[in-house]
Amino acid sequence: MNSYFSLRYFLIILFFPVFLTAQNGTQWRVHDLNRPQPQVISPPVQYLPILPPSDAVVLFSGKESINNWQGMDGKPTKWISQDDYFECVKGSGYIQTKQCFGDVQLHIEWATPAPPKGESQGRGNSGVFLMRRYEVQVLDCYNNKTYPDGQAGAIYGQYPPQVNASRPAGEWQSYDIIFHRPRFNNLGQVVQKARMTVFHNGVLVQDNATLWGGTDWLKYREYSYHADKLPLALQDHGNPVRYRNIWLRELEKIREKPATAVQAKIKLEETVLQKYVGTYKKEKKGVHKIELRGGKLWLLAHGNRRFELLPQSKELFKARFTAIDVRFSFADDALPTALYYTFTGHTGKAVREK
Ligand code: MG
Repeated sequence: MNSYFSLRYFLIILFFPVFLTAQNGTQWRVHDLNRPQPQVISPPVQYLPILPPSDAVVLFSGKESINNWQGMDGKPTKWISQDDYFECVKGSGYIQTKQCFGDVQLHIEWATPAPPKGESQGRGNSGVFLMRRYEVQVLDCYNNKTYPDGQAGAIYGQYPPQVNASRPAGEWQSYDIIFHRPRFNNLGQVVQKARMTVFHNGVLVQDNATLWGGTDWLKYREYSYHADKLPLALQDHGNPVRYRNIWLRELEKIREKPATAVQAKIKLEETVLQKYVGTYKKEKKGVHKIELRGGKLWLLAHGNRRFELLPQSKELFKARFTAIDVRFSFADDALPTALYYTFTGHTGKAVREK
């Protein structure tokens, strides 16, 4: 064995535990009952239903809106729709939206059967599947012990809820989920993992959790490439769990567009910049000052706050970080005689003091 090999084996031994844990960021095994049980808390009083804001896509608001949903095979679902809710029918399969979504703020209300029947994962089990892959567990977790990563509010098989904020069987409960889909590069590799924040009955139970991959029973799945938008699905786990008042907001549609940073469009020599320097008297009261420091022009305004000015032309300057524009006027093309200061839609004139 030469020194190259011994170094290699040394490094493997050194980093071996890292290899073991790096894949999922925890040393707990999937569905481990030894994982600490989330503390049971009483959730705050919530006045449900929480109705959608005007920019929401409403996915279920009452009987007829079952039409927004279908079976996983694209055929009409056999889930029962009554009044203001629909209910899972055992053996009928998952249900999914006809529309597809990416990043969302999702509100959904659910109730597990009362009186409760069964235990652990067999009691009031269903699930909210973002993009048909990433499950927030729905389960009757009121006085019902189960493995922590499979509780209500868990990202199934990955993250237990931070606390158990469950209400009793039969009572309406709410999830508010902020979901950021994974991003893939053009080789189909994940470059940004999915993230989820979940409120259960108004209580934070998942705080911007990074998903290791798709959620699954007994294991988690590595990320595999999928479309940017996919249906929202609800699980048939054999229990007649009810859902109502389902709406979401599409975050990619409302996200702010990025801006391009303001830059100098022309370069002015210090000897030229020097000409702008001075005190400019405002029409009502007070002054603006223009200074030259470190080869840059600065505006002193709003109580001597300092704004770096970037020349766009000989007349127009823009503050680098604040939406202030300063336009200079010249009488004889040599020295500015006044400046026009524009901020939040208002322009004021200031005349240069002699
Ligand atoms: Mg489930």
